[in-house]
Amino acid sequence: MAVLLHTPAYSQVAGALTYLSAQPLPAGTLVRVPLGQRELLGVVWDSASPELTALDPAKLRPIAAALLDLPPLGTHWRALITFAAAYYQRSAGEVALAALPPQLRDLTSVQLARRLSRPARRPAATPPATPRDLDVAIEDVALTAEQQRAIGQFNANPGPFLLFGATGSGKTEVFMRCTAELLAQSEHSQALVMVPEINLTPQLEERFKARFCARYGIDAVVSMHSGMTPAQRLKSWLAAHQGSARIVLGTRMAVFASMPQLQLIVVDEEHDPSYKSHEGARYSARDLAVYRGRLEGAKVLLGSATPSLESWHHSRPALEGGRYQRLEMPSRVGSSAALPAAAGSLPMVAGALPLVRRVDMNHQPKGCVISPPLLAAIGERIARGEQSMVFLNRRGYAPVLSCNACDWKSTCPHCSAYRVFHKIDRTLRCHHCGFTERVPRACPDCGNLDIAPVGRGTERLEEQLAQLLAELRRPDGRPVNIVRIDADSTRFKGALEAQLSQVHSGEVDVLVGTQMIAKGHDFRRITLVAAVNPDSALFSSDFRAPERLFGLLMQAAGRAGRDAGNTSRSEMWVQTFHPTHPLFEALKRHDFPAFAQSQLVEREQAGMPPFSFQALVRAEARTQEAAQAFLNLAAQASAHMMDAAQLLTHITLYPAVPMSIARIANIERAQLLIESPSRTALQRFLHAWQTVLHASRSQPECKGLLRWAIDVDPLII
Ligand code: ADP
Ligand code: ZN
Ligand code: ZN
Repeated sequence: MAVLLHTPAYSQVAGALTYLSAQPLPAGTLVRVPLGQRELLGVVWDSASPELTALDPAKLRPIAAALLDLPPLGTHWRALITFAAAYYQRSAGEVALAALPPQLRDLTSVQLARRLSRPARRPAATPPATPRDLDVAIEDVALTAEQQRAIGQFNANPGPFLLFGATGSGKTEVFMRCTAELLAQSEHSQALVMVPEINLTPQLEERFKARFCARYGIDAVVSMHSGMTPAQRLKSWLAAHQGSARIVLGTRMAVFASMPQLQLIVVDEEHDPSYKSHEGARYSARDLAVYRGRLEGAKVLLGSATPSLESWHHSRPALEGGRYQRLEMPSRVGSSAALPAAAGSLPMVAGALPLVRRVDMNHQPKGCVISPPLLAAIGERIARGEQSMVFLNRRGYAPVLSCNACDWKSTCPHCSAYRVFHKIDRTLRCHHCGFTERVPRACPDCGNLDIAPVGRGTERLEEQLAQLLAELRRPDGRPVNIVRIDADSTRFKGALEAQLSQVHSGEVDVLVGTQMIAKGHDFRRITLVAAVNPDSALFSSDFRAPERLFGLLMQAAGRAGRDAGNTSRSEMWVQTFHPTHPLFEALKRHDFPAFAQSQLVEREQAGMPPFSFQALVRAEARTQEAAQAFLNLAAQASAHMMDAAQLLTHITLYPAVPMSIARIANIERAQLLIESPSRTALQRFLHAWQTVLHASRSQPECKGLLRWAIDVDPLII
């Protein structure tokens, strides 16, 4: 029989291997098989391998053990793996085994049997303490008219759906109601709820657990993300696979969870780039969710306040070719538009979106970081006991140190990038390879003592704000409290939680940070959000940069004024040298559809996704020449493939170029872009081209090539 093992697409033994088994085993059975000296976990892929007759049975080895205590992986699951492997140009074995919990690889069948026979924990007599007791009770709360309409449409149609709802419009409530209904329909049905990064969105997890554990028991909701221990992951996986878990909450990896009775897949914040994997099979969990839904007949519900332009385009009217149904909830909960006439518990003024204010930096004092009007606005918040959030997408103190006498700059010796100055521990740190040194006292080249930071990161912003706000006092008479949240301040376990709870408790007046703070958090007391320097994305070479910036600013704006009473005076400030840029005009009106429309027009004219399909091949080598030679040679050789003439008419192959950071940790990186107006043509081409790529490796010009990988539908080009 054919057994899939963990073999990367480019290794010698790709695809399934054939083994003998004394008893017939159904496809999907987990087995342990010998490979060389090792014994590996495998999945029976084909119980009767067609090639079997051609092979010499005497040379075949028998499987070592079958994990018969586990139900085999289902047909749908296997079809999903097969599709993902083919689409993302990897081996099915790699995708299948990477989709299983790592601990399963290490367990013998005896250990597994023991694990399975362990009695499941009894449901706790009292449901777990709910961090927000409100949530259980809210089920009795009247839905807003918009929520009602969205749920009605969801129930009446097959989907897939794109829930386009403003921040604070109550999307989570819709997710929970839709989940509740599908779970109630049959005793065994299951739902998969995906979130971008679980650490950053703990509130969604809390809310689902609070509501559904109360109804179905504490074991009915399991999590699946990389922050869990191997043992926890195995436990969740088994619960999902065996059906005792009714809801799986997880990050992108959860899209591969084995769920035999899957009825619903929710993808929250569907635009988030973290749904795209950037190693191994570079899959998009959002896209696979849609595929999986169709495969299994499960409903798919994507949700966002700022959908990806791909999903937005798919949700255009069906008459224009749209394939997703768009459900709209434009109003915040509590605003008059969203509120049913009867429910009067929330003030009618609440629910408005924050006022967007643009500061024209051309008219501000030269070199100022926080413009005087913004500073004054933050000061007013402090005096009123409200919070402000200031974000800047660059961590560290300054992105580069430079000598004023000679041309020395703090470049990383191992990368084509600058090392970032971190003042707190007086280090120069490379954010790409990690190379860290103490800051030199004098210029290493000329000995000049005057070496200065250039530009600014969150550390410096924090420092400058502290100086600017030093004279002010909080209503309780204490000095202003500023806290910084970024990848540096949250490096240690528990740090993020501690900082967040400080913010929630109201101890913090000003929160400084990277985009980390703009996402997902439900900060109730923030009435001012400011983007200090968002301009670079307007002119980036990455065609998705404006989309990401707009999404980020909308999300950030959504942080302001979540508390009913505060909404009316909450503001989003943007400091920019281009205040009349259409992106900021659309932001001012909170008009995502207008922004999306203008971007889609541009993309269509330029033949960019979603109007074309792309793949990248990235190569890493000892020299830039070798990396590029490999890609260019393979591109040239594609002309000699079978059916090349026909395939290549729909394909554009661009010349290989260095990646934007060409060298990281002394490894040179280059990439080659492939584009096609047809997804099918691109798929066929890539499939045929794999062999050519393998063969090109051995060309003399490619000496020093280390590895290469295909990225289908790349997010960053
Ligand atoms: P979104 O996910 O769209 O940003 P949430 O689902 O977090 O919005 O909802 C925002 C707030 O409104 C939450 O505190 C939620 O509990 C509350 N909420 C949601 N639906 C209702 C409703 N129908 N009535 C009252 N409050 C609601
Ligand atoms: Zn110098
Ligand atoms: Zn480096």
